[in-house]
Amino acid sequence: MNLEDKLQLINQLRDTGSLAKEQWVSLLRERDEETADYLFQEARKIADKYYGNKIYVRGLIEFTNICKNDCYYCGIRRSNSNVERFRLTDEQIMNCCEVGYDIGYRTFVLQGGEDGYNTADRITGLIRMIKDRYPDTALTLSIGERTREEYQEWFDAGADRYLLRHETANEEHYRKLHPESLSLANRKQCLYNLKEIGYQVGTGFMVGSPYQTEENLAEDFLFIKELGPHMIGIGPFIPHHDTQFKDEKAGTLELTLFCIGLLRLMMPKALIPATTALGTISPQGREMGVKAGANVIMPNLSPVDTREKYLLYDNKICTGEEAAVCVGCLSNRMKNIGYEIVSARGDYYDYTK
Ligand code: SAH
Repeated sequence: MNLEDKLQLINQLRDTGSLAKEQWVSLLRERDEETADYLFQEARKIADKYYGNKIYVRGLIEFTNICKNDCYYCGIRRSNSNVERFRLTDEQIMNCCEVGYDIGYRTFVLQGGEDGYNTADRITGLIRMIKDRYPDTALTLSIGERTREEYQEWFDAGADRYLLRHETANEEHYRKLHPESLSLANRKQCLYNLKEIGYQVGTGFMVGSPYQTEENLAEDFLFIKELGPHMIGIGPFIPHHDTQFKDEKAGTLELTLFCIGLLRLMMPKALIPATTALGTISPQGREMGVKAGANVIMPNLSPVDTREKYLLYDNKICTGEEAAVCVGCLSNRMKNIGYEIVSARGDYYDYTK
């Protein structure tokens, strides 16, 4: 394809919101700097149209690193015996919320491993506690695959959003990243259940995970289009030294940014974070993510003494700073590129619950 054909595909994606699988593959395979520049320019125009120069923040509370699963890429997988395991108490979680609320966060994200201690009742209790005390905040859960009944119970208790990355939409590729006990079919079913129940749903994938091909990425885009999530979180795969993928290459900044731009064109109103993993592979990664079309940042609100223990991958940034320092740093970073962090729930553009 010559440059003109590539720009034509970008225009087609912008104007129709979709591409055929072969078109996705060609664009990904033949991408170059000029195509990327044009993509980012168009992606940013669309993000500005719906969300202006506002960047929403989500206070991320990593509340347990205990996990029954054994995903091959993940640093806190069950079989990693070098991890010091922790679980925050209800009181510690409420403290995180208090700190976060005071510095302006209006969304809290409870993320963790699939920890057996998190019975439906415990999570329901946490949701009630947080929403009673901070009724003007949105609460997001990111605790993996659960039954439809549990998702429904938590929604009824006041949870607003749920993050569950599909990781890869290709069955064979999924098998190369996960043990037998996990299935892509179940992961997708969970996402459809969450959507039907009424959550604002986030999915996503790792860029450059081991064995990933352009065809796999094309399938990720097609799956996301079909699901129609409100949020899409992607970040580069980064190897963790205690996993079987320790010697694999990390995903690149360049491809991750390109995918962010494509996602913005495909899903104009989506909430798309510039992720911590993106900031980890490059010092200006998150700023570049915003310039490519992202409009959300998820700073860490976890207690500083447990952050080091929630290492999904190596060299994770911001594990040492207090929450207030993080928000100051991020405000400055965003200001420097003409964007503004706002204190708001930051719901999906025209979401009505
Ligand atoms: N247990 C929850 C939360 C998972 S952690 C769940 O199953 O949804 C959040 C995300 O971190 C994962 O979905 C995965 O995409 C990402 N992640 C895990 N290990 C990673 C690695 N080595 N590099 C980059 N991202 C990783």
